[in-house]
Order: sequence, then structure tokens, then C-alpha cells
Amino acid sequence: MTKTFDIAIIGGGVIGLTLARALIRRGASLALFDAGAVIPPATNAAAGMLAPSFEHGEGGGALYDALHRFGARALSLWPGYAAALEEETGVRIDYRGDGVLGVAFTENEAKELREQAVRTSSLGGDVSMISGDEARAMEPALSKDIVAALWAPRDAQVDPRRLLIALRAAVKKKVVQHFPEKVARIVVQAAGASCTTKSGETVAAREIVLAGGAVSGLASKELVFPVKGDAVAVEIEEGAVTRVIRAPGAYLCPKAGGRLVIGASEERGRDDLSVDAEAIDALKSGATQAVPTLGQAREIERWTGLRPGTPDGAPILGRAGNGVYLALGHYRNGVLHAPASAEDMAALILDGRTSDDLQSFNPSRFGALAMAEHG
Ligand SMILES: Cc1cc2nc3c(=O)[nH]c(=O)nc-3n(C[C@H](O)[C@H](O)[C@H](O)COP(=O)(O)OP(=O)(O)OC[C@H]3O[C@@H](n4cnc5c(N)ncnc54)[C@H](O)[C@@H]3O)c2cc1C
Repeated sequence: MTKTFDIAIIGGGVIGLTLARALIRRGASLALFDAGAVIPPATNAAAGMLAPSFEHGEGGGALYDALHRFGARALSLWPGYAAALEEETGVRIDYRGDGVLGVAFTENEAKELREQAVRTSSLGGDVSMISGDEARAMEPALSKDIVAALWAPRDAQVDPRRLLIALRAAVKKKVVQHFPEKVARIVVQAAGASCTTKSGETVAAREIVLAGGAVSGLASKELVFPVKGDAVAVEIEEGAVTRVIRAPGAYLCPKAGGRLVIGASEERGRDDLSVDAEAIDALKSGATQAVPTLGQAREIERWTGLRPGTPDGAPILGRAGNGVYLALGHYRNGVLHAPASAEDMAALILDGRTSDDLQSFNPSRFGALAMAEHG
């Protein structure tokens, strides 16, 4: 017999799980499908920067302003979100609201940072340019060759692996039926939709949310595609680097226990999970240019992940047809966006309410590619 739920979510990465948590807190009966054993979540590969001051797309324009505002709103939700999730689950997620430094070695790089500072300030962001000496006073391990830095005191970070553990625990605590399987097909019917797993189990729901990341097999590859990212972690003395540093060749994110995450390469369209040794060497060299003592650091782990990219670099959030919603394409910022994405999608699904942000990221901007694809 077909099981029936209010809502079925396909995808147990940060986007699917934050949405699941938001929906069950409002009493929805939920089925959650996740193929994590065969399609590793990008969330597990992320560095966990919550840094909208450095991210509002490459092209400028209204969509990118919206993207920046969405990121800034998500950032403001993070302290409360992290505290509530930790209290609910007892799992520490290592949220750190101690700012991000973007550093420059040349006058050209400093000029780019100044332009970034002007853009971010014009959108209401709290950023300032500081000298190389001021940056070194904050982070003594920084290279003496740094000439200037962009200081974003409100940007933050979290540990995405701990976040996944906490979100899984939060969702499991409430009554969510979990199907650890890949959904092979979604079928839209007159009164809702159904999805069928690879092994043939069918679940019916009033609404189905596709939050399957970069390679779900359920969205058009022109709409959502993988952008492969390699990263590496090295061991440092705890406190040797205290906050996120973004350098031209790599970013550095210090985590608990003396683990420093260095990221990340970007390669569009590749969906294999092999780690590229040359990319890792380049990241290590970029990190060592910023913090010379890292030249001696012992490598702990290297990995890769598939960011869900979209044609315009912005997420795809909203209704895509009868009974089907998309929560896809958070690209480089899914961890940052998650609390805002979940809040807006829950309000849309349960109350039919659309935020200004959701208007900007509506699937309809891609026309037939996104709409009613599952009909
Ligand atoms: C190297 C790297 C560094 C990054 N750093 C940052 C950062 O610092 N800050 C930031 O905000 N973001 C960062 N990101 C981006 C971030 O990881 C993603 O935007 C985010 O994780 C996307 O979340 P998601 O839930 O949409 O997808 P995922 O985390 O990929 O989760 C999708 C889930 O859906 C499941 N699934 C897929 N298809 C199906 C199916 N057909 N049936 C059932 N289940 C299915 C998968 O198994 C998976 O578990 C980084 C990404 C990478 C790769």
C-alpha cells in the first residue's frame, strides 16, 4: 500500500534538513528521502564560511544584489539558529561569529578588495579596508607581504559536518519517516504528487520538495549542474589562526581541535569524486603564501564535493508546478543560506506566503526548464 504524507522532501543535505526541521516544528507529517550513501552531500565537503560580504555574484545587477541581501539576512539568523539547534540536540556545531579577513598582496588585489568593500557597503554590509599591519595585529601568523585587507567583522563560520549531525538528530527526534534511498521518479497527480525509489517504494504526498543538490538525476542538468570543489585539512596549533582568512589562492578556516580547512578549487561540470592532487598543491601553496608557517603543517585529510551550480549563480527556490517545489542550486553558499532558505520555503509551502527573496529566486525565471518538468 502506498504510504501518504503531507510533505516529502528529497535530499538530506543542509537544505533538505533545515527545511525538514522547519516543517516538523510546525506539525507537518514528513517523509525524507536521502541517498547519502551513494550521493555524498556537498554539505559534508563544505568549509562552512558564512561570508556574504565576499559573495554577491560576479556580474552585478539586481539578481546579485538580491543574492547579497539573502546572504546577509541568513547571516543575521545564524547566531539564534545555531544556539537553538545546539540546545535542541546537544550537538555543538562550532558556530564562530568572529569575522572574516580578505587579504591582498598587490596593489591590484587591494583595488579589487576596495571595490568589493564599496559594493558590500552600498548594500548595507558592515565592512572596512584595513592596512597589512592592522591585519597582522589581528592575525599575527599572516605574511609580512600582505599590503591591505578587507575586514568583515560580522561574517562568521560553522562546522558543516557537525551541523549535519545536529540536523539529522533534530529531524530524527520528531516523527519523520526516513527513507535512506535514491528517488528515481516523481509523478505529479491531480491531488498532489508521488515519488518512487530505485527499489520500487512509492510515497504519496500533498507536496514534494526536490532538495537533492547537484546530481539528483531529477532536475535538468542545464538547470542544476555540479561545480566540483577540492579541499584539504591540515593540523595547526590551536589558536595559530583564529578566524577565516580569504587569500587570493585559497581560504583558510580554523576549526575546533587544531584542524585548519583550506579550500577550494572550482571546476564546472565534473561529477566524479576523485581528488585532484594538483589542485590540492595549489591550495596549499596559496594558504602558505598567506600564512608562511603552514609550509610545515601536516596534512590530515583531502576531499572533494559537488556544489549545486545554476546558470545565473543564484538558488532556485519556489513552486515548479502542481505539488512540486524546488530548493536547489545554492552553489557556493548553501550552508550560509540554509536558515533563510528553510524559513522562506516553509512559509511558502505551509502558508502560501512568498518573501521578496523568493520572488527573486523563483524557478519561473528559467521558464520551461524548471516549470512542470515533472508533470
Ligand atoms: C569544497 C566546498 C566548499 C564549500 N564551502 C562552503 C562554505 O564555506 N559556505 C557555504 O555556505 N557553502 C559552501 N559550499 C557549498 C555548500 O556545500 C552547498 O551549497 C550546500 O551543501 C548544498 O546543500 P544541498 O542540501 O542543496 O545539497 P547536498 O548537501 O549535496 O545534499 C543533497 C542530498 O540529496 C541527496 N540526494 C540527491 N539525489 C537524490 C535522490 N534522487 N533521491 C534521494 N536523495 C537524493 C544526496 O544523497 C545528498 O545527501 C561548499 C561546497 C564545496 C564542495
